[in-house]
Amino acid sequence: MNFLSKITGSFSTPSAANPTVAMVEAAYKHHGLDFRYLNCEVLPKDLEAAVKGARAMNWVGFNCSLPHKVEVIKFLDGLGESAKLMGAVNCVVLRDGKYIGENTDGKGFLKSLKSIIDPAGKSIAILGAGGAARAIAVELALENASRITVVNRDQNKGKDLVDLINNKTKCKSEFKDWSTKFEVPDHVQILVNATSIGMSPDIDARININPDSFRADLVVADVIVNPPMTNLLKDAKAKGCQIVDGLGMVINQAVLGIKFWTGEDVDPEVMRKKLLEVL
Ligand code: NDP
Repeated sequence: MNFLSKITGSFSTPSAANPTVAMVEAAYKHHGLDFRYLNCEVLPKDLEAAVKGARAMNWVGFNCSLPHKVEVIKFLDGLGESAKLMGAVNCVVLRDGKYIGENTDGKGFLKSLKSIIDPAGKSIAILGAGGAARAIAVELALENASRITVVNRDQNKGKDLVDLINNKTKCKSEFKDWSTKFEVPDHVQILVNATSIGMSPDIDARININPDSFRADLVVADVIVNPPMTNLLKDAKAKGCQIVDGLGMVINQAVLGIKFWTGEDVDPEVMRKKLLEVL
């Protein structure tokens, strides 16, 4: 590495813990890529200036964490297909001198899920309707899932996501109110937790769901990275379900980001090892 290494990075708020730095830098080092990944603390009021700064310094791209994923769009030059549908960007890429916003959250999840099951033609229930749920639902719909049931406490947010899928994709979607214990319906083949329940430090928190409704042929996925083995996944495993943890999603979204920025396919195992080391 030298002081003219190509720069990539992340715009995060001061409170955001960012294990991505260690993970991405480990991949750059392992593959001898002359790139750096810097975590920059950017307050919402400074986001425009930060993007201008990245342009001025010719950064080849950067990630955006909450709360910048939507706001950043107005400072970019264009959007990729799924980022346009979701209305959220977590990865910016310099292409022909233009900053194009992409969303790799859902794509990272998809890659991880596809190592177990192809979502095409499947009926899927998603718990949650926030940013992660939106990214995952849009990618699953674009991947030809047949039916997506959105289960959420906040009805407006849940119905918004359902409308997005029904109006902008070929997939059918419906809303399920989450005021009582959720029973996984028989038609559901894949269950995804896209809420923050189970995330450290609240690792004992329980999702309002009946594990007795988990069939052994159900695939259960969780977005939680830390700890990767959540109570939901433990319950699912005990019922004989195949499980997908949140580590794959975070690693795969970084693999995709690095591919966008450097053109290289990096080894996900190098990043998994580093991530487990820093978590
Ligand atoms: P948001 O704040 O946008 O959304 C959170 C969602 O969780 C909302 O739908 C909210 O419901 C729901 N929720 C939170 N607490 C509860 C509860 N006690 N009971 C029922 N529903 C609840 O967050 P994000 O979507 O951005 O992130 C969600 C999780 O995904 C986080 O833990 C984040 O770390 C993880 N994530 C993981 C990634 C990975 O690579 N593995 C990538 C991105 C995110 P309501 O609308 O009713 O309030």
